[in-house]
Amino acid sequence: MGGKPLYLEPRLESRLRSLLDSPDLLHTLSGALGSPLNLVVPDQLADNLEQFRSVYGKHHLSGQVFFAHKANRSSALLRRLAATDAGVDVASLGELQHALGAGFTPDRITATGPKNPEFLWLAARTSVTVSLDTRGELDQLAALVRKHALPRVRILLRLSGFEASGVRVLSRRSRFGTPVGELDPLLEAVERHADVVDPVGVAYHLDTTSLAEKATALEGCLRVLEECRSRGLRPRAVDIGGGFGVNYLTDGGQWERYTTELTEAVLGIRPPLTYGGHGYGLRSEAGTLRGTLGLYPAHRPVAGAHYLDELLSHPAASLGGRPLAAQLLEHLYDLQTEPGRALLDQCGLTLTKVLEVRDQETGGPSAVRLAAKADDVALEEHGVLMDPVVVPRSPARAATEPVAVHLFGSRCLESDLITRRTVFLPRRPEPGDLLAFANTAGYCMDFHATRAQHQPVARKIAVWQEGDTWRWCLDDQYWPTTPVGGAQ
Ligand SMILES: *Cc1c(COP(=O)(O)O)cnc(C)c1O
Repeated sequence: MGGKPLYLEPRLESRLRSLLDSPDLLHTLSGALGSPLNLVVPDQLADNLEQFRSVYGKHHLSGQVFFAHKANRSSALLRRLAATDAGVDVASLGELQHALGAGFTPDRITATGPKNPEFLWLAARTSVTVSLDTRGELDQLAALVRKHALPRVRILLRLSGFEASGVRVLSRRSRFGTPVGELDPLLEAVERHADVVDPVGVAYHLDTTSLAEKATALEGCLRVLEECRSRGLRPRAVDIGGGFGVNYLTDGGQWERYTTELTEAVLGIRPPLTYGGHGYGLRSEAGTLRGTLGLYPAHRPVAGAHYLDELLSHPAASLGGRPLAAQLLEHLYDLQTEPGRALLDQCGLTLTKVLEVRDQETGGPSAVRLAAKADDVALEEHGVLMDPVVVPRSPARAATEPVAVHLFGSRCLESDLITRRTVFLPRRPEPGDLLAFANTAGYCMDFHATRAQHQPVARKIAVWQEGDTWRWCLDDQYWPTTPVGGAQ
């Protein structure tokens, strides 16, 4: 194979581990329902919610956790969540209809993102809270409410462009949200529309892993709330969006080694680690490394609810240095969060069938062709590097040596690579085996899926445990009443 295998083993908590330890079940399911096949684990979502809740509890904070629906289309996941006390954040007309139909009452729904008139109307008609991006959107909503004589709408003002202590702009530019520098005209518009909108809070969402950036934004929001109150407005919620992240890998050492060797491969110090020498944003210019590694930090020691905990414990520099949580508590503000990816941690996996394994005469990585397209397992889209798990068809097969492979999709296109990375597997897969991609519920399993080439999109099923037994049903057949002894 040339060189030691560089594994990136997925982090597997008990439910996913138990599923992967059930090869007969997985082969029966994919045999019956096809490849690729998506499995979602609704009960895990409820557990993840509890972890976020416990961080609220630890900091004595009130407020709501809103699941960012866009991260997964599943009905089962949404209905399971409807059976808890969580909210949902919807970013399209279809998602709003889905949430209402899953049992979320409007007081548990926030509408965000780009909005067309239909989306705005249904949100206003059903008294959903609307997170507004711009003054123009506020005017549009106000006009709609007046024209259709709708009830007064609760609104959040989404802001962006926060500055740390008025000096350096720390938070990244965003297409969404009103820059805090334009707060005055925004608040004047809110006052003008006071008969039709009720400003309940301010919001931000930053797509970054940087805690400092998020702390700056949260501090900025606290200052804006003060400004609102000094003007006689009474908002009391801060919505800090999502982006709490997921730890995808078991072993930080593997991640360190892999990225180091990837860099060395780009520099030509070691053999390539990708198909066609792709550098994930890095390149070599006359032996010097250029560019930046455009990868998700797949091993994250602090992610999800722990990340929220760290953010809340972060000192608010411009507000006397006390933790952000203390600032929220002192003013009795509600904390709202909108985790997508983090709430879906360990909530699903994608099964793909191996169709063909072709060894290279040159001795390079074998070509493995899967019954799936790159869009069906969109880890690569987000730069998440993580190995699939081989689920052999016949477990009794003699153990073999580790192999290096390239994973190709089944589309008639040179670039249909499931990942451009050379993947090391502990055993050589064979046609009929399954490769299971773990932890794909957040953005990977259906966000990019298409029907290109008349190939079907993956079926999705919900799975849950009754005692030691896994049960399943089609995703859209799942309701909190379905599982006997499962979700309550
Ligand atoms: C996408 C999105 C989220 C969720 O982000 P994650 O990184 O999945 O947690 C939350 N809020 C808004 C406004 C979003 O657009």
